[in-house]
Amino acid sequence: MNQTTTSSELGQIREAILSRQRFLITSHARPDGDSIGSQLAMAFALDALGKSVRIVNADSAPEHYQEFPGMERIEIAPRVDHPDVDAVIVMECSDLSRTGVAGLEGQFIINVDHHAGNRMYGAINWYDLSAAACGEMVFDVIASLGVPLTPEIATHIYLAILTDTGSFHHSNITPRTFEICRQCVDAGVNPAVMARRVFDSNSFGKLKLIGALLDDMELVDEGRLAVLHLDEEMLRETGSTHNDTEGLINLPLTAREIQAVVFFKIGADGVVRVSMRSKYDVDVRQVAAAYGGGGHKNAAGFTASGKVADVKDEIIGRMVAAIAAGLQSRPA
Ligand code: 5GP
Ligand code: MN
Repeated sequence: MNQTTTSSELGQIREAILSRQRFLITSHARPDGDSIGSQLAMAFALDALGKSVRIVNADSAPEHYQEFPGMERIEIAPRVDHPDVDAVIVMECSDLSRTGVAGLEGQFIINVDHHAGNRMYGAINWYDLSAAACGEMVFDVIASLGVPLTPEIATHIYLAILTDTGSFHHSNITPRTFEICRQCVDAGVNPAVMARRVFDSNSFGKLKLIGALLDDMELVDEGRLAVLHLDEEMLRETGSTHNDTEGLINLPLTAREIQAVVFFKIGADGVVRVSMRSKYDVDVRQVAAAYGGGGHKNAAGFTASGKVADVKDEIIGRMVAAIAAGLQSRPA
């Protein structure tokens, strides 16, 4: 179930795209840079082939993605009643329900993903666990279609990789990652502009929120684990929004001793979203999977059932165990 699939699926995707005309592209709810970049790179490539393309997402993207090319093309909708397309391309979703978009069941689905535990819900299923970002896979699809790397496509592929590697911090980076980025830069991407736009476009409210979150941070396991909490009151007090929380989970990892972070975000409805990040071989995906979530070794998440107070101790216990296991195989 979890093995990586490769070239034959890529060939099937190529044929399926070339022989069809109308496409709908989607990705997971609460989109991140990889889902935005993968979808828009694919959309621009389909445009180049003269195909018709709709992009439908359950949620809008955080503010700092809005100025990237083609963002205005993304329709935000919880369902599509009559897709009326020849194929649906689903990026980054281990399960069709991760899209948060209803009404896609029964369509001809092309499933492109790099998360472990993909449910193989498509007519074609290509998942490559070794891809640092889904954008790396989209790069291959676009190359196989013979579409040149335009500045727009290169921007979105680079955006996908820059964000999904945690700005080149995660342990899923390979020579291939840099080869693709090299080609993107060759095609006109400016890495300094990309990094500033994605990582240095905070609102003042977000800066204040960073202060409040870190002020409230708990350290566990002799400082190896950082625990962050966020609730509506903190957002109100700092003048920030939920969209401002993207990326904040990475801040504690900048401390040398901290090996992993768990971030509890309590929504207005009381629902608790749990995000986790880690260094090197500390596997937080396993922790997420124990609660029905998923992700990658260094970045994972899930939605908790119950109040923070009820679930927190157990989750922290699993994180501490994951840190102990991961530290045993730390690179020198
Ligand atoms: P984030 O913490 O940024 O929400 O998510 C980190 C990683 O975990 C991403 O790769 C994301 O797709 C994955 N992830 C987050 N929440 C869930 C979830 O509820 N289910 C699954 N399967 N994956 C999740
Ligand atoms: Mn991804």
